Amino acid sequence: MDTQTLSRRRFLTATVFAAAAPGLAAAATADPYANSPLRKLTDADWKKKLPAAAYEVLRHEDTERPGTSALLNEHRKGTFVCMGCDLPLFKSEWKFESGTGWPSFYTAIPGALAKKTDLKIGVPRTEYHCAQCLGHQGHVFNDGPKPTGLRYCNNGVATKFIPA
Ligand SMILES: [Zn+2]
Repeated sequence: MDTQTLSRRRFLTATVFAAAAPGLAAAATADPYANSPLRKLTDADWKKKLPAAAYEVLRHEDTERPGTSALLNEHRKGTFVCMGCDLPLFKSEWKFESGTGWPSFYTAIPGALAKKTDLKIGVPRTEYHCAQCLGHQGHVFNDGPKPTGLRYCNNGVATKFIPA
């Protein structure tokens, strides 16, 4: 390989890397709601803003008692939005009867939820929360129906239903 070919190869490698790197960096750190004023609210602010039961679930990962949510029997067409910030999370057509006593969905609106591993009960579970205000919504399991096989087990009190 002559010197000219070698330097051209180096140039191409460098160009490809430079083109790919910004995209990777953006994907790793992208948080479209990072500057939301909701992120600046204190725990006391949230306590004032929310009904007591919603506050305990959204801000302290409490779990509502199964079978207590009025939304279990909500069968109209519409959207379930975050009780903390009104971000749309689930569409009514994705809701299914899981028999668990919590409103359940097989998928969520893209980008609406963020996830983390939760070890609170000793076995790892996937916790999910509102991508905008970071309010806890529920846990997602792999025993849901088709087409996703997922079961988003949601605290009804953490959402509001907006009829279409
Ligand atoms: Zn929210």
